[in-house]
Amino acid sequence: MSVKTTCPYCGVGCGVVASKDADGSVRVEGDGQHPANFGRLCSKGSALAETIGLEGRLLEPMIGGTPVHWDDALDRVASGFSRIIREHGPDAVAFYVSGQLLTEDYYVINKLAKGFVGTANIDTNSRLCMASSVAGHKRAFGSDTVPGCYEDLEQADLLVLVGSNAAWCHPILHQRMLAAKEKNPACRIVVIDPRRTATCEGADLHLPLRSGSDSVLFNGLFAFLAGSNAVDRDFVGSSTTGVVDALKQVAGQTVAQTAATCGLTEGAVGLFFDWFTRTERVVTLYSQGVNQSSSGADKVNAIINCHLLTGRIGRPGMGPFSLTGQPNAMGGREVGGLANQLAAHMELENPAHRDLVQRFWRAPVMADKGGLKAVDMFDAIADKRIKAVWIISTNPVVSLPDADRVRAALDACELVVVSDCVRDTDTTRHAHVLLPALAWGEKDGTVTNSERRISRQRPFLAAPGEARADWRIICDVAHRMGYSGFDYADVADVFREHAALSGYENNGQRDFDISALSTLDGRAYDALAPVQWPVTPDHPAGTARMFESRTFFTPNGKARFVPVMPRPAGNATSRDYPLVLNTGRVRDQWHTMTRTGKTARLMSHIFEPYAEFHPEDARVAGVQNEGLTRLTSPWGEMIARVVVSAEQRRGCVFVPMHWNEEFAGAGRVNALVNPVVDPVSGQPESKHTPVKADPYAPK
Ligand code: SF4
Repeated sequence: MSVKTTCPYCGVGCGVVASKDADGSVRVEGDGQHPANFGRLCSKGSALAETIGLEGRLLEPMIGGTPVHWDDALDRVASGFSRIIREHGPDAVAFYVSGQLLTEDYYVINKLAKGFVGTANIDTNSRLCMASSVAGHKRAFGSDTVPGCYEDLEQADLLVLVGSNAAWCHPILHQRMLAAKEKNPACRIVVIDPRRTATCEGADLHLPLRSGSDSVLFNGLFAFLAGSNAVDRDFVGSSTTGVVDALKQVAGQTVAQTAATCGLTEGAVGLFFDWFTRTERVVTLYSQGVNQSSSGADKVNAIINCHLLTGRIGRPGMGPFSLTGQPNAMGGREVGGLANQLAAHMELENPAHRDLVQRFWRAPVMADKGGLKAVDMFDAIADKRIKAVWIISTNPVVSLPDADRVRAALDACELVVVSDCVRDTDTTRHAHVLLPALAWGEKDGTVTNSERRISRQRPFLAAPGEARADWRIICDVAHRMGYSGFDYADVADVFREHAALSGYENNGQRDFDISALSTLDGRAYDALAPVQWPVTPDHPAGTARMFESRTFFTPNGKARFVPVMPRPAGNATSRDYPLVLNTGRVRDQWHTMTRTGKTARLMSHIFEPYAEFHPEDARVAGVQNEGLTRLTSPWGEMIARVVVSAEQRRGCVFVPMHWNEEFAGAGRVNALVNPVVDPVSGQPESKHTPVKADPYAPK
């Protein structure tokens, strides 16, 4: 038996084929027909079959650590949430979910929170991954739209990767870029990153800019372009607004000034600007190095400004391109998965949108203001303004900044419910009620990748123990809370409703429309081939590229330039904390290692937490290569193995985010990370925390 499904790890969204042999063993291979990967898989994807065993799985509901019947667990959740809502109001409860959820799961939990409980206190770990891109898109395009598609990367003559170690974090997309470069000798790759990462190996130019200076660099490029013949005056005049104000912001900025502020040579900056100016087909890809900043949305807009000025958007081989971290970060946005969004890309602040969604859901109430975003949500839990939280499919005690405060918040919370497929995580340990959820290979639904492509996740394993689908658990709780509108026959029924809402009374201003999929019957849903939204009656086969008509989703149909005033990071280094901590990922691990940590093959790549220092910083700190260091910030500390490398920028230390306290008492790097967020996007500044390093000798 073979089943086509989608890799659960990253936003590339590769198709896989899972085959089950008669003896029950499972093989996972790349799907040669899936347009994201055409059969390729990276190290994580090709090890999927090694991660599906039941060891460590949560297989029965629990209250206070004791196994209970589902009815008892569901009653406890429903009665606990209902009582707290009755006594303290809807904003006394919260939901913290995940880009690992399937779109259908995401849809029903948002419907429950916003339309029935009446709170927008629902946020997601995708806040940590791409909220700045969402905000940047909305400011520039009037909608959260990724303009291009993966084919654009293969048609480009210049690929600019900003704050993206795609070779490790989006490996198949990176392989596609390198393959395209090999076929097209004119193609150049520029990597902009304080670290020399694996992605630099295939690049023509690496700009190791000063941490956080991305806006300065792209403002400098914007000023340079304005004085060149690369400006697309027709496009700027007919299809954009705000160019004069945006240019005022960068007036007089020279290459020399840009280079000095970014800590780069004038020659390298001039070369990059020259290539960008002279190359028509340019794609600028950006990821967490841009997004995870207290000015992440501005950095995104500084990049988009350069594409708008040159009209390089909505055409083959060009455009700004946000790489999403999680497999369904995009799907979560479709259903309004962030605290400041409404379903189907509608807006919480817009009364007409609220009214439309409320009528469609036949909901008794509707949240009428933005809810608390991830960091603020856990602050509110710590302060007891939120008294009940339901965490679904994520591990915030490891992954959120100021992680010790997150742990203390859960300890102090009156009711903590956690749905997960894993029994023992740093977060499940704090749960009063544990609900066993299906895992990859058992789940059924859809996800959307970085290029807006919806793909099916199909089950090929039976549900183990008493585990249930997340959407069904949520609906069961909703019923017990007395709400109607959660009587779905199956997961296809949820998808149809989601698709129908995307086209409901559509005023033509919204980008997300998959109404052509709203009549799929169960068989057609099951057979759904990967397709890029919008999928409308006019475009039933989907839409590869947006904005080809040069019309955007702003009220006047024009894209907006956003003036960008570069701002320093939220917390500067000091004598006490002289190094900038930059967190990230390693090639063979995913998030908090709950799955990739199960395979010896993946663990053999890098098996312990490490801190990478520039040789001069290591000398000053007195730490030795392969020795141990204690890293300390004003928020926490951890122990890590020392790696000394000239590839690290002076003044910065890099630590991967995967490990938890269980690992030899090393601790979680997010315990050190400052809880500073971007005021526009709410995304935490995970790339810039002042820290100090000392040698560490175990007692
Ligand atoms: Fe999975 Fe991403 Fe690797 Fe593709 S690139 S196989 S989606 S982890």
